[in-house]
Amino acid sequence: MTHWVSMPPRHHQPEALLASLSTERGRSDRLTHTEHLPAREARYAPWPEGIRQEVVAAASGLGVVLPWAHQAEAMDLAAAGRTTVIATGTASGKSLGYLAPLLSDLLTGTEARNGRGATALYLAPTKALAADQRRRAAELVPDRVRVALYDGDTPPQEREWVRQYASYVLTNPDMLHRGILPAHPRWSSFLKSLRYVVVDECHTYRGVFGSHVAQVLRRLRRLCARYGSEPTFLLASATTAEPAVTAERLTGLPATAVTEDHSPRGPMVFALWEPPLTENTGEHGAPVRRSATAEAGYLLTDLVHGGTRTVAFVRSRRAAELVALQAQEQLGQPLAARVAAYRGGYLAEERRALERDLHSGRLLGLASTSALELGVDVSGLDAVLLAGYPGTRASLWQQAGRAGREGQGALAVLIARDDPLDTYLVHHPDALFATPVEATVLDPDNPHVLAPHLCAAAAELPLTDADLELFGPSSAPLLPVLERRGLLRRRSDGSWYWTRRERAADGVDLRGSGGSPVQVVEADTGRLLGTVDAEAAHTTVHTGAVHLHQGRTYLVREFDLESSVALVSPANPPYTTSARDVTSIAVLSTDTTEEWGEARLSFGSVEVTNQVVGYLRKRISTGEVLGESKLDLPPRTLRTRAVWWTVTEDQLLDALVPFDLLPGAAHAAEHASIGLLPLFATCDRWDIGGVSVPLHPDTGLPTVFVYDGHSGGAGFAERGFRRAVEWLTATRDAIAACECERGCPSCVQSPKCGNGNEPLDKAAAIRLLTVLLAGAPAGTAPTTGEAPAPTD
Ligand SMILES: [Zn+2]
Ligand SMILES: [Zn+2]
Repeated sequence: MTHWVSMPPRHHQPEALLASLSTERGRSDRLTHTEHLPAREARYAPWPEGIRQEVVAAASGLGVVLPWAHQAEAMDLAAAGRTTVIATGTASGKSLGYLAPLLSDLLTGTEARNGRGATALYLAPTKALAADQRRRAAELVPDRVRVALYDGDTPPQEREWVRQYASYVLTNPDMLHRGILPAHPRWSSFLKSLRYVVVDECHTYRGVFGSHVAQVLRRLRRLCARYGSEPTFLLASATTAEPAVTAERLTGLPATAVTEDHSPRGPMVFALWEPPLTENTGEHGAPVRRSATAEAGYLLTDLVHGGTRTVAFVRSRRAAELVALQAQEQLGQPLAARVAAYRGGYLAEERRALERDLHSGRLLGLASTSALELGVDVSGLDAVLLAGYPGTRASLWQQAGRAGREGQGALAVLIARDDPLDTYLVHHPDALFATPVEATVLDPDNPHVLAPHLCAAAAELPLTDADLELFGPSSAPLLPVLERRGLLRRRSDGSWYWTRRERAADGVDLRGSGGSPVQVVEADTGRLLGTVDAEAAHTTVHTGAVHLHQGRTYLVREFDLESSVALVSPANPPYTTSARDVTSIAVLSTDTTEEWGEARLSFGSVEVTNQVVGYLRKRISTGEVLGESKLDLPPRTLRTRAVWWTVTEDQLLDALVPFDLLPGAAHAAEHASIGLLPLFATCDRWDIGGVSVPLHPDTGLPTVFVYDGHSGGAGFAERGFRRAVEWLTATRDAIAACECERGCPSCVQSPKCGNGNEPLDKAAAIRLLTVLLAGAPAGTAPTTGEAPAPTD
């Protein structure tokens, strides 16, 4: 029993809250693990030399007499001009770590003749976060340092002032890409004096978006060099594996990581929770657990009923709607009115109103997607429910960290979804509470990403051969391609020029996922309900699909491909829908191959052809298939990167997998391995796909592919290749440990299977993976710590 200095209400103590959800209600068996995260004592260090007295005074005015040891370490590295990534926990004062040296230098810079001897640039992933940082920095910044936001909302008359006079400019990568770099002559005095570039929340720069940002930073470095500056990059990250490797990929510079957190922490009770098996059976008679969403609905109901301020984080927009609806129904009025859903895709004014209500306490319970995760201040919650692993450790801790009022313990509950990764996690607490194995991955060498940045760079300043090293090994072969497309032209001096009249930077949207988002419009009223990403549209808003918005169910009447509009009508069908598709894959080139005995593991480029051909209607409560309809949608092709493995016929004999069992074995292994990859790389199911083929024409062997779901690749498959032994071992363990008999959603069934989860053979998959892993190299690279960057 914790001894509280001042006793909070009994029911708000985390242990008591947890007991009220579990033992007191006969649900103890659902609690697979309780982690008591003890309070941590702070460790301080003296202010490093070079931190100006004004900054020390401002900090002490905010209650910081001495920095924590990790902050001081970061300050020392920054002052020494080292690329530094601070990867410590939420609320560990990462900002002060980079702000103290930065502001000290800016302050010294004000003594220069033009008042701007040093400048700094701050990048946040969103406008809202930059604005938030502007407010925080204001408390620390001495009057003489001129700070300014520069984003799409900055009025034109202020922009000129920012360019001429501001020494600390806060913006986002999109604005840097579109607004600042293309107009660099007008920023010349700012860039000439650029001393620091802060990249905050850098773990959000992952996948394709992260790869774009990496190229934007290279363009910035090139222009700085032209103006004679060489800024030091200071990055802040959530705790991940190999933060230095990520920082290097992002900036292109060798980086040092600060990872040991010396900030104090209140106690937290972190519970791992597995929903019960239900009476129902799902596809092919598989046992099914109650969904994490439904379980979160029950727990949210209990917590709100007890007056506990709770946010339930869910993984999908639809789940946010369902959890809120369920809690409202179970609570009845008047409490039902104090529960709501929150997600992206709502209109801005709807979201602002919900934020206000949560803040004021009018709302007691909120079911939210990660849209609430960043930038919105909702601290002071008593409990946080996570309905399903949020996909990354960074998100997990960011969301869990929302719980806990001043001086009081907090409760966080991770509720497992019925899938391989969540099941693995709630039974392997070390994967969550020990050193992280998951890394933030990106692939700046993706030619689809690189090409438009080479154009933008050439438009900023003609490209020379000397620049190619900066932009990476893919750049040299790309330039002639861009010339053939009439985008660049080579002059006699050997440099490459942008030839078009339009702005090169407009040719790429850093956050674009390919194509414009699909608008969801109410057919009768013409009202815009929200949007859906283009890549997801074929599977989620096809004609006949069930779509949810603000707790209301709609049926898609018509999905118009040409105008990117889905027309919907309110409806109340007793089913959900799930798309069926056919996928084929061709190997374009193989980059690397590892021999695992007779088996082979490869990484390279592939072309995936996918066509959504129909959809299943599944009963909401059980997942039972009620019927199937055909769809007439065009096939889509994707050139991307993949990891794949093959086994030989002899190995199949050893594994007792005859040819008739092979399709089910390979398909089951493919599903589970896709499910487990997010443990090693920050990705989710939308980011990766898989194909298993009993006899693939390009390999001549049974082959299982896992590929990046974005053109040109995003680094996920590559991470799978590099961590293949650990990844496929976890895959086999997850399947083997599942208590079901013949395969279920917790091991080998996939909710996104385009083939209706057929065929799947759980037992044969275990034997197949065992034979594959038998030849895997022993003593592989460590999965944790500061492994050296891959060199190839
Ligand atoms: Zn199972
Ligand atoms: Zn499948």
